[in-house]
Amino acid sequence: MLAVPYAVGVDPTLNSAASEPATSDQRRRWDAIVIGAGVGGAAAAIGLAQRIGSGQGVLLAERSSWPRPKVCGGCINASAVALLDRLGVLRDVRHAGAVPLGSVRIQRKFRECHLRIAPGLGLARETLDACLVDAAVRTGVVFVPETRAEVLPLRTSISPVAKAELAGRRVMLHRRLASEEHVAGVVIVADGLAGSSLDRLDGFGCEVAPGSWMGLAATIDGAEPFAAGEIRLCVGNHGYVGLVGLKGGSTHLGAAMDSAWVKTIGGPAKAVREILESCGEQTVGNLEGCRFSGTPTLTRRRPRMAERGLFVLGDAAGYVEPFTGEGMAWALGSAEEVVRLAADGIEARAETLNQLSERWQAWQTAKMRKQQRRCRWVRGILRRPWLADAAIAGLSAGLVRRAVERGLWPSITASRPAHTLRPALTVPRGRT
Ligand SMILES: Cc1cc2nc3c(=O)[nH]c(=O)nc-3n(C[C@H](O)[C@H](O)[C@H](O)COP(=O)(O)OP(=O)(O)OC[C@H]3O[C@@H](n4cnc5c(N)ncnc54)[C@H](O)[C@@H]3O)c2cc1C
Repeated sequence: MLAVPYAVGVDPTLNSAASEPATSDQRRRWDAIVIGAGVGGAAAAIGLAQRIGSGQGVLLAERSSWPRPKVCGGCINASAVALLDRLGVLRDVRHAGAVPLGSVRIQRKFRECHLRIAPGLGLARETLDACLVDAAVRTGVVFVPETRAEVLPLRTSISPVAKAELAGRRVMLHRRLASEEHVAGVVIVADGLAGSSLDRLDGFGCEVAPGSWMGLAATIDGAEPFAAGEIRLCVGNHGYVGLVGLKGGSTHLGAAMDSAWVKTIGGPAKAVREILESCGEQTVGNLEGCRFSGTPTLTRRRPRMAERGLFVLGDAAGYVEPFTGEGMAWALGSAEEVVRLAADGIEARAETLNQLSERWQAWQTAKMRKQQRRCRWVRGILRRPWLADAAIAGLSAGLVRRAVERGLWPSITASRPAHTLRPALTVPRGRT
């Protein structure tokens, strides 16, 4: 992993291309503020910085100290690999120790099936995300860890103060004991499942699916070495566990489970062991000695994903449980698309910003519906033990298996880009 001189305070002169010392007023104005340095936020920040070039810069605010672990299976599917390549960071990701992945073994009640998948990569999220943030900083992005961001509501009155407000979105940055108001031409929110940066806005709440499962992750010491390039998915009645061998011989575990059942059975280690043993996996190492991290309930959607100058993407926009391992591809694909819209919004008038946010809402809604349909379907099967049994039995049959190999882990479905959703806009430069 590269050592990067992260900004100590929110000062663009520290690690951006800005050459003039900033006055305190300038320091609070940005072309774009991106909230959350997961794959979605970091990719959007890189894309915007590449597209804008010079200017008042892109600020990437991250709540956690950095680098930080993230609950995830760490499997970068073929679509995500292609998106990382287009972003220009794939070589860094490979150098950071990503291992190739090419097949998945699904196990349930001593029955199993093998599926070939399009070539992907396995890498711990702590390393992947640090790699992307390093690339962002090299592109000129100002990165501020340990900084919680909060988007402030638009002012509704048209007073002289409010007129200045029309020229940008206000974001409050909280760092240690200090809070500072910053303004940006556009704000991109990629703050994940547990983000709170939109809490002060009306109408931006999330709808959580009833009976949604929680996520878990851990690194297991002393597990048996894995077949190279294989993802193992063990399916129980109350959840499933994914295992993948990473560089250096460690085994990474990502899981989704019914949280009430986890409590009843006596905690995550017992729950994971129960599922693995029900699938015939006896030699999984010291689970009781593992440090498990968890997530809030996973399956959710945020009906509203845009407002003037504000674009929401990645898990912050909506998520479905991770059996098919597509979340990173969704976040990276949305980041690639939002850059095209948001870059046009930086210097735009309020009316144009409203149109851009309408397009984002329409594109995200259509794309998420399409992408998540398959995952909701899989989620429905996994909730019904008899259907899960039938599905695994079916997958062992050659014809079904081949159909699933083509359909379950496809490359990112080519949906119409957001900037083509309506007749082309001429974006007037200069603010109201
Ligand atoms: C158990 C499990 C296994 C998974 N396995 C896979 C897999 O194998 N492959 C795959 O592709 N996907 C997988 N996923 C899904 C994947 O992890 C997510 O879809 C992906 O991380 C979404 O990226 P993101 O950038 O939207 O959010 P995140 O990666 O969650 O990043 C959000 C960031 O925002 C920060 N933040 C939050 N609030 C604030 C704030 N107010 N201010 C500043 N920063 C803030 C957080 O600290 C965090 O760093 C899995 C998920 C789970 C739960």
